[in-house]
Amino acid sequence: MKESSFCSPKIGSVAAVTLSDTAAVLNAEEYASKPLSQGRTGFPKQSGQSLSYWLQQVRCDPLLDHRTTEHLPQQADTVIIGSGISGTLIAKHHLETWPGKSVVVLEAREFCSGATGRNAGHCKPNQWRHFAKFEKAYGREQAIKIMQNEATTWRALVAYVQEHNVDCDLWVGDTYDVPLDDDVAKVAKACFERYKALGGKVDHIRVTRDPAEAAKISRIKNAKACYAWKASTLQPWKLTAHIMRQNLKSGVNLQTHTQAKIVSVDPSGRRKWVVLTLRGEIACDTVVHATNAYSAALEPSLRGVITPKPHMCNKVVPPRTMSGSKALQNSYGVLLPDSGIFSINPRCTADGVIMFGGSNPGQKELDRWVEQHPENCINDGLSRVENVTECVREFVESNFECWKGAEMSPGEGFDYSWSGIIGLSADGVPFVGELPGKPGQWICAGHHGHGMARIFTAAPGLVKLMDGETWDATGLPQVYQMTPERLQSLQSPAGDAPTIAIV
Ligand SMILES: Cc1cc2nc3c(=O)[nH]c(=O)nc-3n(C[C@H](O)[C@H](O)[C@H](O)COP(=O)(O)OP(=O)(O)OC[C@H]3O[C@@H](n4cnc5c(N)ncnc54)[C@H](O)[C@@H]3O)c2cc1C
Repeated sequence: MKESSFCSPKIGSVAAVTLSDTAAVLNAEEYASKPLSQGRTGFPKQSGQSLSYWLQQVRCDPLLDHRTTEHLPQQADTVIIGSGISGTLIAKHHLETWPGKSVVVLEAREFCSGATGRNAGHCKPNQWRHFAKFEKAYGREQAIKIMQNEATTWRALVAYVQEHNVDCDLWVGDTYDVPLDDDVAKVAKACFERYKALGGKVDHIRVTRDPAEAAKISRIKNAKACYAWKASTLQPWKLTAHIMRQNLKSGVNLQTHTQAKIVSVDPSGRRKWVVLTLRGEIACDTVVHATNAYSAALEPSLRGVITPKPHMCNKVVPPRTMSGSKALQNSYGVLLPDSGIFSINPRCTADGVIMFGGSNPGQKELDRWVEQHPENCINDGLSRVENVTECVREFVESNFECWKGAEMSPGEGFDYSWSGIIGLSADGVPFVGELPGKPGQWICAGHHGHGMARIFTAAPGLVKLMDGETWDATGLPQVYQMTPERLQSLQSPAGDAPTIAIV
């Protein structure tokens, strides 16, 4: 395939992967669409959060509102802001690297009640679909490295869960990417073949391009192809809680319901920084921003660089006709003609409740509404957004044979949906490293709707950098590094950073 046959058109505000001779657009990630007003931001919403299914399952867990000490410590070596999977893993690796140093983790609300505690539960290493987009933006080598890093991250997560016997409903099995019309299948094929031709590893991906066979494998009636490889689903709160409990045993001080408001230079000179919270202040030498979608509220230099956007996840109890031996046994990315995607997690090793995430056409209507009402950019109190749910309903009824017309008794069906806030990175990749101009302040954030396939390597990578190791030692793609040049180019309106953010 000729390189020039790939282009990145503007579809409204969305840029994605397509071919010059089709109208179809391939969604390169699980959550797509670029915010129009990128300057918006906000602190975590303090009341009225809708409860995700994961948070509903742990209401009697004292970790939710844990405070290791009644009062906030007046000082610490390191303050980590945010108790999602990023902050929790950074604390773990920090303790392993410097067992003698004191660490305080601040969380604005309940423990792990941000995106990690509200996501769709997929850890799906993208193994080819992102490639064209990243190749266009960053070149072949970095794009291949991103694919490799996702595979490494997935293996690291699975290894941790298995080694420590973590009770988090881990499923490991074949995930399917299924294009739902001919044009999307064409773009997907071009993307896959290009990745392969340029040296990408594809021998672990089973490709079926015969629609009848793809429909049989995937059980999706309108499947035009099926790409299968290994991925996982899990209960993300429980995994994060397991790691945090180990951290607590190793001496971390966790302070929930403690929002950091300002980080400033320590006027006393005792320590480098002071983190001001609504419950007092902590002086420290090192600050880690693990605040993801909310990063710019605390660190103004990140305005327009990391932008919050609400996304919906639907919890669906399958009808009896798709339960028991007929239950779904795989996770999915269903690729839609308009660059939409359903990300499907059927919790195969747990209760069989199906999580529908991703970015379907209803989600785009929600995006438009948020554009008109930007104060909702951090609204994780949304629930039952009918436009999004309706798209899921139409999809399952027209594509899963046993679903259409199935009698729905009480307790079955479209039970509930909630919003969570994703942190859009302006150039489509996370920020890992030291904040420019702020020695001793570090960041790991901007993970879009795909952090579970990135953070298990990004967090230890950040701690290596904090320990003075080189970028190469992190093993992460170079383009994830926070540098003054990258930050500056994204801040400048005329900046030449790739505008591929798009998730
Ligand atoms: C609906 C939805 C579905 C998703 N599905 C998937 C999926 O299936 N697979 C996947 O890979 N990814 C998915 N994602 C994305 C994924 O959840 C995130 O990329 C990942 O969880 C980010 O982790 P984090 O720790 O960096 O951020 P978060 O989990 O958001 O943690 C940041 C924490 O910082 C706290 N905080 C912020 N500011 C402050 C402050 N000033 N003071 C104190 N605390 C603060 C927040 O309250 C929050 O708890 C989804 C996201 C959403 C919203």
